[in-house]
Amino acid sequence: MSELRQNFFTKEWVIIATERAKRPEEMVVHRPAREIPALVAKCPFCPGNEAQTPPEVMRVHGPDLKTWRVRVVPNKFAALARDSDPARIIHRSRRTIAGFGVHDVIIETPGHDGVLGLMSDSYVTDILRVYKTRYLELSHDPRIAHITIFKNHGLDAGTSLEHPHSQLVATPVISWQVRQRFQEALRHYDDFGQCIFCQSIEEELTEQTRVVVSSEYFVALESFASPAPFSTHIYPRRHMASFGDISSAELTDLGHVLRSLLSKLYYGLGNPDFNFTIRSAPAECVGVKYFHWYLSIIPRLTRVAGFELGSGMFINTVLPEAAAEYLRNVKVGESAGASA
Ligand SMILES: [Zn+2]
Ligand SMILES: [Zn+2]
Repeated sequence: MSELRQNFFTKEWVIIATERAKRPEEMVVHRPAREIPALVAKCPFCPGNEAQTPPEVMRVHGPDLKTWRVRVVPNKFAALARDSDPARIIHRSRRTIAGFGVHDVIIETPGHDGVLGLMSDSYVTDILRVYKTRYLELSHDPRIAHITIFKNHGLDAGTSLEHPHSQLVATPVISWQVRQRFQEALRHYDDFGQCIFCQSIEEELTEQTRVVVSSEYFVALESFASPAPFSTHIYPRRHMASFGDISSAELTDLGHVLRSLLSKLYYGLGNPDFNFTIRSAPAECVGVKYFHWYLSIIPRLTRVAGFELGSGMFINTVLPEAAAEYLRNVKVGESAGASA
């Protein structure tokens, strides 16, 4: 029997279609192997082409000051401009704001062929630390209401540049979707006096059936009402509303958990295209007791079609419990790669 399941905080319904259920291994991507060079002369993110990007915002140095491990640069084709004033214009039913915003590109490694899941834990931690630094710097800007950190890996995930990179977009507004999730979490807190995420994490740790990786500070699991096969969330065990509050020890641990998970996806599903995004409290909600930040990874194994667009409901053909078991059984090293 198929089953409808409700997401515990978005309240969205998902159809877990066991009638046409697929075994997890049927989702493995079979693509002809393609050799990716370590350096591409025309790539604006490859070493030697630093002048092709707008002036650097920040960098993590390599062993000597001439080389780099991670660079942050403004997006050359940013949708929003950082040097404007987000003045609101309200005219009858129409509201507009001048296109203010910050759009950073985080170039994760000098290696054009770099793969996050195959890097060392400490390298992934370096990238996460860069996210935190930029997140905190921008959170202090009074014009900024919300910051989204994300990565698109592969064509199906919407990437246009092959060189491994992630992005940060800071906007002067909070989207309706983010606000609605906040309001649901706040309502639960008002009704039950407890963070709904903390409650769910506790239940998941007791049940264990959907847990993929757990560590001292984090737990990675397949959501009970997972909208897509292998859609995975990483939650901090400690209650924390904002990603900006992550401690140094937690960053190190998250580097390990994220790398392990991406490694499991890489080996277990044949390097699928994926998106990940950090869902954190808006800048002005740091420290609230009702929201709990998390990192969401969605492998792009299926396509969104008319039913999903029309109904706002998703159909998932892989049982989350089966996906979790499958990923638990993909053995990956303690820390892949030596330095990159
Ligand atoms: Zn490159
Ligand atoms: Zn919590």
